[in-house]
Amino acid sequence: MILTYKIKHNKNFERELELAKKVAEFGLATRSITSKDVKHIGLKSMITNQILKKYSKNKKLKNINSVKLTIPNQGIKLIQGKIYIPCLKLSLEIWFDKGFQKINQIEIGKEFASISVNYNEPKNYIPENIIGVDRNTTKHSLVASNLSTGKVLKLGKECNHIHNKYKHIRKSLQEKGKLKKLKSIKQREKHIIKNINHKITTKLILEAVKVKGGVVLENLKDIRQTAKTRRKQRYSLNSWSYYQQERMLIYKAKKYGVPVFYVEPEYTSQRCSCCGHIEKANRKQKLFQCRKCGEVENADVNAGFNIAYKYQKGISQFDIERDISKGNTDTPKEALLMKPGNFRTQLL
Ligand SMILES: [Zn+2]
Repeated sequence: MILTYKIKHNKNFERELELAKKVAEFGLATRSITSKDVKHIGLKSMITNQILKKYSKNKKLKNINSVKLTIPNQGIKLIQGKIYIPCLKLSLEIWFDKGFQKINQIEIGKEFASISVNYNEPKNYIPENIIGVDRNTTKHSLVASNLSTGKVLKLGKECNHIHNKYKHIRKSLQEKGKLKKLKSIKQREKHIIKNINHKITTKLILEAVKVKGGVVLENLKDIRQTAKTRRKQRYSLNSWSYYQQERMLIYKAKKYGVPVFYVEPEYTSQRCSCCGHIEKANRKQKLFQCRKCGEVENADVNAGFNIAYKYQKGISQFDIERDISKGNTDTPKEALLMKPGNFRTQLL
């Protein structure tokens, strides 16, 4: 799999970037791919070749805005655990996983170097634990409940606070008509949330790897349609953050061979993860209190266990349980078999 990492290079390449633009313009105008033709411009031939390849052959391209310095694999060295690009005398720290196969190429812009890296893609392992993930919840950005061990990871507590803080700042800037500042504040918030998303998705995936866990997510693709998502959206951060988190989870899972499963979201917030009783009134904002067995649990943790359970038992089981609790006032069979609290461990 190919992943791209961005690093601030802390060097001034203004001159080289200007020359690169000239080369690209030349390529676009003449469709030449011979670096000899642009030797007079004075950019390193290795970079020139890459730019000509990109711009001369692209028939759709009409205008050129910014051209990056593209360094191919053969122009990149690894020296003492660092990346070194001889033709630019540029050294870059590697902050990402060093277990890659090779670096495909590096693109250098004004501020950042984008490093495209190739990793071996491991086969997914067979999960020994099932971890249900409730996302964009009442309080945390991600709550992961391990159905097999009962362990709960609550991550991204700061997200809601940050979102509210910036919402407030944005509103006041908008009122004052400071649009430029508003734009930069939006960027700053995005940047902060992105960093948090990176941190918490890595944490979750590494935890999954540690316990050989399969990760179960809710399928909230048709986000506007279900009652569950309406509840979710009330508390949710912006949906870009939600999807960004999902993208990160999926590619990181792929990288470590963590299997990911989806279940439909119905009743995951109304069901008691202890006795299986489903009732709307069970759910009270941040707290879950079962009307049947009395189990009290954080609502997101309860939902997380249900998400994991739903995967493990198969989706149809949920509807059966619901019918039992709706049409029959007797204790559901399940509750007779399992004492509250033992429920999770008895499943395996
Ligand atoms: Zn219950």
